[in-house]
Amino acid sequence: MKTVQHFDKDRIEGIIRKCDICFVGVVDGDMPYVLPMNFGYKDNVIYLHSAPEGRIIDILNKNRNICVSFSTDNELVFQHPEVACSYRMKSKSVVAWGKVQFQEDFERKEEALNIIMQQYSDKEFKYSGPAIRNVKIWEIPVDKITCKEFGAPHEKYQGDDSVKRTF
Ligand SMILES: Cc1cc2nc3c(=O)[nH]c(=O)nc-3n(C[C@H](O)[C@H](O)[C@H](O)COP(=O)(O)OP(=O)(O)OC[C@H]3O[C@@H](n4cnc5c(N)ncnc54)[C@H](O)[C@@H]3O)c2cc1C
Repeated sequence: MKTVQHFDKDRIEGIIRKCDICFVGVVDGDMPYVLPMNFGYKDNVIYLHSAPEGRIIDILNKNRNICVSFSTDNELVFQHPEVACSYRMKSKSVVAWGKVQFQEDFERKEEALNIIMQQYSDKEFKYSGPAIRNVKIWEIPVDKITCKEFGAPHEKYQGDDSVKRTF
């Protein structure tokens, strides 16, 4: 097994699509603050929603820089059950960076809620006016994104130019 870095956009988006939560890191002065959140993703933009107030909103009002990480297909594997250093976590992981923009437009907020719901359900949803007005919608156009697969089988990506072995 090895760790590989992926560069193919479809593969990276497929990994994001499989995640059920993300971890959102912001910069509170000189201290990081990281929260689990639900999300949506479409066309290089991460969508988040929250209450209009709270610590993380106060932080973002001072510094819009954000880092979001995703991980899926996490599986503990080992070569020998008695040997601790033979244990590995297989996983696919994505890290994305950008700047949060708060969306104020009513129709675009509704669109963003639909994108978030599409991450979790195939159903169509309707939202009341107050529900849309009272929710804070965050849009994060992705400036930089990286993706690593931990515990990839040796042969799987042989000859695939969109994959680089990292260690
Ligand atoms: C799986 C999961 C998904 C979530 N999805 C969303 C989402 O989509 N949108 C959303 O708004 N919130 C979501 N939450 C809650 C989110 O993690 C925050 O708790 C919430 O956004 C409030 O953050 P805040 O900084 O405004 O909290 P505040 O209430 O202002 O924070 C006060 C203090 O509470 C503590 N605190 C806050 N959140 C957490 C936490 N999650 N765990 C431990 N301590 C905490 C911190 O010490 C903070 O200083 C989710 C939580 C989980 C576990």
